[in-house]
Amino acid sequence: MPDGTSRALIPTATTLADYQKQRGFQAYQRASGQGAQGAASILEAVRQAKLRGRGGAGMPTATKWQVVRDAVATRGGPPYLVCNAYDADLKSLVAATLLANQPFLVLEGIMLAAQAIGAREAYLYMHSTNRTGYAAVTAALNEARNGRLLGDLTITVVGVDLGFMGGEETTMLEAIKGRRPMAQQRPPYPAQVGLGELPTAIANLETLVQVVNIVRDPAAFAKNGTPASPGTKYVSVYDVAGNGTLLEVPFGTTVAAILKNAGITVGTDTTRGVVVGGPEGGVLPLTQLTTAFDYEPLAQSGTIVGSGTIEVLGPQTCMVDWARERTKYLTEQSCGKCIPCRTGTKRIAGTLAGIMSDVGVSSDLDLLNEFADYVPDGSLCGFGWHATHPLRTALRYYPDDFKLHLQGKCPTGACVPVRSHRFVTKGVL
Ligand code: SF4
Repeated sequence: MPDGTSRALIPTATTLADYQKQRGFQAYQRASGQGAQGAASILEAVRQAKLRGRGGAGMPTATKWQVVRDAVATRGGPPYLVCNAYDADLKSLVAATLLANQPFLVLEGIMLAAQAIGAREAYLYMHSTNRTGYAAVTAALNEARNGRLLGDLTITVVGVDLGFMGGEETTMLEAIKGRRPMAQQRPPYPAQVGLGELPTAIANLETLVQVVNIVRDPAAFAKNGTPASPGTKYVSVYDVAGNGTLLEVPFGTTVAAILKNAGITVGTDTTRGVVVGGPEGGVLPLTQLTTAFDYEPLAQSGTIVGSGTIEVLGPQTCMVDWARERTKYLTEQSCGKCIPCRTGTKRIAGTLAGIMSDVGVSSDLDLLNEFADYVPDGSLCGFGWHATHPLRTALRYYPDDFKLHLQGKCPTGACVPVRSHRFVTKGVL
């Protein structure tokens, strides 16, 4: 199992000259010189590398691109490409760092992907609050245009601030179309019907950076990771005080090794749990930190790769309150289109508020377990599918926190009652 010692700094190359010194655009120029053969070779290299999307879902990138190519053959084209550089998780350092330090690398990834699917128009979709990244990437785009590097490809930068849901793929397409940004029913998937009702490939910017790495040196890419998930992943690691570090770790590295590599020491006196996956991730107790950072092992543990953010919770964290805080945040971020997501998350947060305020009753646990299934089952998009991970993992790994609160005691003594979730008190019930 990888030990996660590959702490990588993302080198800085914000000018074309600097990027070219780092072998910049060589991969694209080699592939573009081969015409249709070049497009096929990029797709085949990505397929052989078994590249999985770094946006959280872990779908094989080559499969998605093949769907786009097949849809173009039946529905017509040209297809569109959207690079998702919108870090929905405000704690994620990935897009901000890559755009600010390596804007040309991101552009080369877009150019290779566009060539692989035959797109002539691409969008770089990002958070409008990422001012440094925006300045760097627009300057790089101008330099690339002036240097006639883009060929007939048009790249448009779109900056939006749509909260957590802004990173959801169908919401993103609606925003680019200028419509009300809300998630849409699938199928048809964007790879079949997207922008302009044409096939549209959506790829996270980290995925596209890995495409450049694969086309440059497939053997180097294959050296890291697991058979199911080759390569590396950028993770944003936060200590108890909220100090964040961006690391690049091979897939399969244990959560414990990632923390160690970030210089964070965990122990029962300093750590109550570790949150993996960002706002919709779950919490792991210290006994579960040997879990490998990879899609399937994390899913089995109740967490997700998600945004790749890992946060350490201090020893005073009450998991009832933590799950309440997380779910309350998600309640505010839900677009509200589906009733299970809109009202289910509210009911969960309200019930948890009642339990942490010591007015809960034992049947609240049945209610919470029911909602933990009901919300994902009745939701339209990934937001609702993952919204109950905080609750589920808190119930799974910290059942005593709930039991103690139902007896009127906070396990860490940290909870300050917020409000009752019902108009009657425990004594009356
Ligand atoms: S699951 Fe939630 S966020 Fe997704 S469409 Fe439904 S209401 Fe909106």
